[in-house]
Amino acid sequence: MSLKSRSAVVTGSTSGIGLACARALAGQGANVCLNGFGPPDDIESARAAIESEFGVRCIYNGADMTMPAEIAAMVSAAEAEFGGVDILINNAGVQFVSPIEDFPGEKWDQIIAINLSSAFHGIKAVTPGMKRRKWGRIINTASAHSLVASPFKAAYVAAKHGVVGLTKTVALELATFGVTANCISPGYVWTPLVERQIPDTMKARNMSREDVIEKVLLTAQPTKQFVTVDQVAAAAIFLCSDAASQITGTNISMDGGWTAA
Ligand code: NAD
Repeated sequence: MSLKSRSAVVTGSTSGIGLACARALAGQGANVCLNGFGPPDDIESARAAIESEFGVRCIYNGADMTMPAEIAAMVSAAEAEFGGVDILINNAGVQFVSPIEDFPGEKWDQIIAINLSSAFHGIKAVTPGMKRRKWGRIINTASAHSLVASPFKAAYVAAKHGVVGLTKTVALELATFGVTANCISPGYVWTPLVERQIPDTMKARNMSREDVIEKVLLTAQPTKQFVTVDQVAAAAIFLCSDAASQITGTNISMDGGWTAA
């Protein structure tokens, strides 16, 4: 399969799953707009590596996913640079772990903004162009937490459940325009997001680091293995293929059996 004539925006692609998706899309020939935070030198290295390794155009836009106007401006900039945005991967996400009674209101707002509302704003911005060109792929990185809950993750679980509803709605609205909208729902993937929540989980559950990894993270996953970022990226590439043109409105689990239980 080739995505040579396609262009993509991947939110939260300076790290983890998003970076793997951006690199995989570029590997198929798509131009890519990176987004996310991080040290400017690291971001520039990642951007330049994509251009030189895959021979595509790769731009970076630092839009903050809590700011709707910046999201719309990023989509406009990518459309201006590439002539259109054919693939949108809404992937930016943050986590915060706390018992509900202590959960800070501002953390709730931030997580809903980054993990849910940003997908709405991005989809809204790319939809006119996708409808016009009668082709599009919207892929939302949800989570096993879009299907089941874990304690202490109120905002994250609510946002990820919300992403599934948004995805289904958009899939129905765009079904006759050659545009699909789907979620990929990984279990635990070894990325900085997972690494960062270990100290808070240690505190919330009064556990050692090893116990959090074994008894909280991998307990949920019957395979007892972390998902890899490349496995998530491969699923995204499949969703961009013609073979997946009738897959829309779904939530694809990649969680080592977690949500089968
Ligand atoms: P990560 O921390 O490695 O990457 C998150 C990305 O989002 C980074 O590029 C970061 O800069 C960006 N980001 C954060 N806040 C932002 C903001 N306000 N504006 C723009 N960008 C912002 O995490 P990851 O594990 O690769 O997570 C990516 C997605 O996958 C998230 O939506 C996450 O919820 C989801 N997910 C992760 C796992 C996992 O186990 N790692 C499991 C299921 C779902």
